[in-house]
Amino acid sequence: MIDVNKIREDFPMLNQHKTMQNHPLVYLDSAATSLKPQSVIDAEVDYYQNYSVNAHRGDYDLAHQVDTMVNQARKAVADLINSTPEEVVFTSGATASINLVAFGYGMKFLTSEDEILLTQAEHASNVLPWFKVAEVTGAKINYIPLDETGKLTPENLQKTISHKTKIVAVAHVTNVLGFVVDIKKIAAICHENGALVIVDGAQSVPHMPIDVQDTDIDFLSFSGHKMLGPTGIGVLYGKYKLLQMTDPFMTGGGQTAKVDMCGDVNFLAPPIKFEAGTPHIAGIAGLKAAVEYLTKIGMDNIYAYEKELREYAMEKLRKLNNLTIYNPDAEGGIISFNVQGVFAQDVASYFNSRGICVRSGQHCAQILIEYLNTVSTVRASLYFYNTKEDIDAFVKACQEAGNFLDAYFG
Ligand code: PMP
Repeated sequence: MIDVNKIREDFPMLNQHKTMQNHPLVYLDSAATSLKPQSVIDAEVDYYQNYSVNAHRGDYDLAHQVDTMVNQARKAVADLINSTPEEVVFTSGATASINLVAFGYGMKFLTSEDEILLTQAEHASNVLPWFKVAEVTGAKINYIPLDETGKLTPENLQKTISHKTKIVAVAHVTNVLGFVVDIKKIAAICHENGALVIVDGAQSVPHMPIDVQDTDIDFLSFSGHKMLGPTGIGVLYGKYKLLQMTDPFMTGGGQTAKVDMCGDVNFLAPPIKFEAGTPHIAGIAGLKAAVEYLTKIGMDNIYAYEKELREYAMEKLRKLNNLTIYNPDAEGGIISFNVQGVFAQDVASYFNSRGICVRSGQHCAQILIEYLNTVSTVRASLYFYNTKEDIDAFVKACQEAGNFLDAYFG
């Protein structure tokens, strides 16, 4: 069970912060980035203050302390997703992770005979790297049709996949509509057809349990900053065999076992092969603390609480007659909507005047906008530190927004 009031004590932003409009902060933009608990902030400061030396390079105690911390962080992440530590690559975020697979695997193995399947609901980070792979290799990009609610279903994948499909790159939870995809079924269909499934977990790993072995997915990418951790640190999980086949996207110090003047290079084994250059050590320390925090609360509890909060919000929002809600039946904590007749950015500005943070626009999912038949949406996104009072404030602001803005703009 979640004791939200106790949890909120751990988040300085929720305790000290009054917004510039002198309201208590109602933070409903966790899909963009999450707030950070004190333990994460402390872990970063602890590194800079007490053992701020490089990783995997020194032969002195402080260096060993850093190495131990990095290894523990890798193990903590591995435990969270049920992988081995050797399958956990530290990157700078979900975007970097997807690019690593696209450039290191897609670019290496795809040809003009092959096909990459995406959906129209993908974040730009899971579209543009594949466009580049297609441009360079000649592979074709095709889209699995979304169902009438905007969800990716195994049935539609089954209808679209062919012997040409080599890669299916899809989000576990999409960042605008927030549907939870059945990735276990998706993975099974991909494997039956000889394709890999590359899962964008940026919006799922922070919010629900995910088991890479049970689901049998091939690659999984996610960002630290959306799961209580620091910015600039993220993860690529890959099945070890696939990581061995994948080329490093970046090359440089720290990743090579042997290099000579003729250009013969032997890279170290994964995951170090992919981690050229000095890592974001403070970020890794913060991510470790974040994973420990989430694990202590329990991913099952987090998911159940967010579902309950979403249902509470939807029950109230359904009663308002001035909203268009684009994902009324989504499972996750993302609510995308418009206040009828009001531009999304004006709605977000009005919310801001009430201390409520939401995002408006296209949310880096431009190709979805055509599907939704609108120019932009407002997105409220929940996390387990939100309360029913936050929802009440949000619903009240939705109710008022239409009237207020009508009066304001005439
Ligand atoms: N995929 C999805 C579904 C996302 O929501 C985001 C972040 N908005 C990303 C990928 C990219 O994450 P990052 O910006 O942390 O690299």
